[in-house]
Amino acid sequence: MAVLTRPVVVALRDGLHARPAAQMVQLAKRFAATLEVERGGRRASARSAVKLMLLGVQERDEIVLHAEGEDAAEALEEMVAFVSTPGAGQEAPPRAMPAGGEREVAATPDADGRLRGTGASEGTAVGPAFAFFPEALPESPQMVPAEALPDELERHGAAVAAVNAALAHRHAAAVPGSEESAILAALLEVARDEELLADMRARIGRGIDAVAATLMAGRELAEGFERLEDPYLRARAEDVRSVARQIGLALLGRADAALEEVPHGAIILADELAAWDLARIPPGRLGGILCRQGGATSHLAIMARAQGIPAVLACPASVEALRAAHVVALDGRSGEVWLDPAPSVRETLAARIADERRAREALEELRDAPSVTRDGRAIQVAANLGAVAEIDAARRAGAEGVGLFRSEFLFLARRSLPDEQEQFTVYDTLARAFAPHAVVVRTLDVGGDKPVAGIDFPHEDNPFLGWRGLRMCLERPDVFKPQLRALLRAATAGNLRVMLPMVVEAEEVRAARTVIEECKAELKAEGVPHGDFALGIMIETPAAAFLAEELAREVDFFSIGTNDLTQYIMAADRMNPRVARLNRPDHPAVLRAIGAVCRAAKGAGIPVTVCGEAAAKPEMIPLLIGLGVDELSMSPASILQAKRSIRAL
Ligand code: PEP
Ligand code: MG
Repeated sequence: MAVLTRPVVVALRDGLHARPAAQMVQLAKRFAATLEVERGGRRASARSAVKLMLLGVQERDEIVLHAEGEDAAEALEEMVAFVSTPGAGQEAPPRAMPAGGEREVAATPDADGRLRGTGASEGTAVGPAFAFFPEALPESPQMVPAEALPDELERHGAAVAAVNAALAHRHAAAVPGSEESAILAALLEVARDEELLADMRARIGRGIDAVAATLMAGRELAEGFERLEDPYLRARAEDVRSVARQIGLALLGRADAALEEVPHGAIILADELAAWDLARIPPGRLGGILCRQGGATSHLAIMARAQGIPAVLACPASVEALRAAHVVALDGRSGEVWLDPAPSVRETLAARIADERRAREALEELRDAPSVTRDGRAIQVAANLGAVAEIDAARRAGAEGVGLFRSEFLFLARRSLPDEQEQFTVYDTLARAFAPHAVVVRTLDVGGDKPVAGIDFPHEDNPFLGWRGLRMCLERPDVFKPQLRALLRAATAGNLRVMLPMVVEAEEVRAARTVIEECKAELKAEGVPHGDFALGIMIETPAAAFLAEELAREVDFFSIGTNDLTQYIMAADRMNPRVARLNRPDHPAVLRAIGAVCRAAKGAGIPVTVCGEAAAKPEMIPLLIGLGVDELSMSPASILQAKRSIRAL
């Protein structure tokens, strides 16, 4: 049987963190081979996310991959590709500290009665105290006689299944793509971790009762995480402990205090609150969070920020002091905390809360407000999306349609091309979600830098100047036609538009139209319902900018991709930090090109969108609008700020 090893330098941004580790487990489970990762002489199974994370693998570390078994060679290739891809396995939750990060810890209140912890989620809160100090579960092992072990193992299996089912239920109920969903997925990963569960079972097998075996295995693993240097990985101890506790509670047939009953606006006081606990509190109920433990990179902190709940963690108050408090005030930016604050402090904080509320309301009011300049020019603000999971976030942010759907994300990181039906479902869902606003789908934009299973890209010295985007699609009708057919079918919704990437000349647009007409004729002959779509192009090459007048006669709209347009005009790689100084969309050369494109579009009577990163930059928005851009498209998180910038012009 093949036994293979391969040293490799890790390119994963942030190393083997929760999500990349979870994805590596998914990858490993597809193979029969035994797969292991070795770092600094320590080895972990690639089928255990927690053990992988415990290796503490960082970006640029050298690791050794081991594979043994029949499909070892194929498995090894995929593992190497995975750890060599910087963005593989979605990004880890934000690791940077928010403003007011780790602070000096003062053990006793100052003259104002003020303590300081770690500001973990911005915002000021004053509210009634809700003490949450659930009792510790019994970890003193009871010996189980040998004949009772099978029953004990079965009880444990049932408790694990119950916790898994409860987590899976909550995960299914969370908004797809939200922080909560990602965190629950990470907890689920721990609750399913083969090595952790095997460790619990092995302890039971040695005669220890299931509750103690579960808690001991969880504690040891959590302590392993706590010994790591990386603050993000250290915070994973919380996930392991809370999963072990949930299994322990299920074994005992108990539940933690009724968090569902937290009064409105209360500040929850705890030793340590798990993200799992927070997920049980109805949204909008909690006024604030104050814990004696925890850090700004914990899942709790990330979820608190996502829900806008002010939070201070690592507060040096004693349990007795917290239990005795009636009213609590905190500032989640500075980390300041007051237990039973004096009237003067409450007055100051009330003013701060009112200011924060006004600022928040002002921004949120813009969600449904028209994005119109003060002199009455309407500038539509749409969303850039890469998956249907992002639809809700875009709608919550008040997106007026989708200005760029990067369809390549449907093709990347999979073992075969998505078929027509799968693509149709995605485009149809998108079109219906935003109707009557327009949804612009960009046809496949990949090249040798982003390989796709099912398309053989030749080796190229300069893939950014090579066989990519529309060039590749026109030569691969087996790839292009299923996408165009899916788009024509989804076009019955009436608001779908299609744009072509990496265009350099009019002939390419005509060639694409010929393929579209062929697809229409096929669908008609097959009796498949379909519609028609407006066809536009991305302006992201200097050639397209120079030929804008000719191109404008061929298409229904332009969308300027400032990311590529800037890198090609300035000859400055958008990924290379050494030339970042030159990669500026506000450089006169780029602005002049944008101006010429807008004039050509006006002449032909077609609209112009900007869908590159520049569209979301407050300093670029006045320039783009001044040059004649009609619409801006950006990531959902930037939409409200952009609306504010537009309305101030
Ligand atoms: C662009 O080039 O500006 C653009 C929006 O496309 P992408 O970032 O996907 O290359
Ligand atoms: Mg581009």
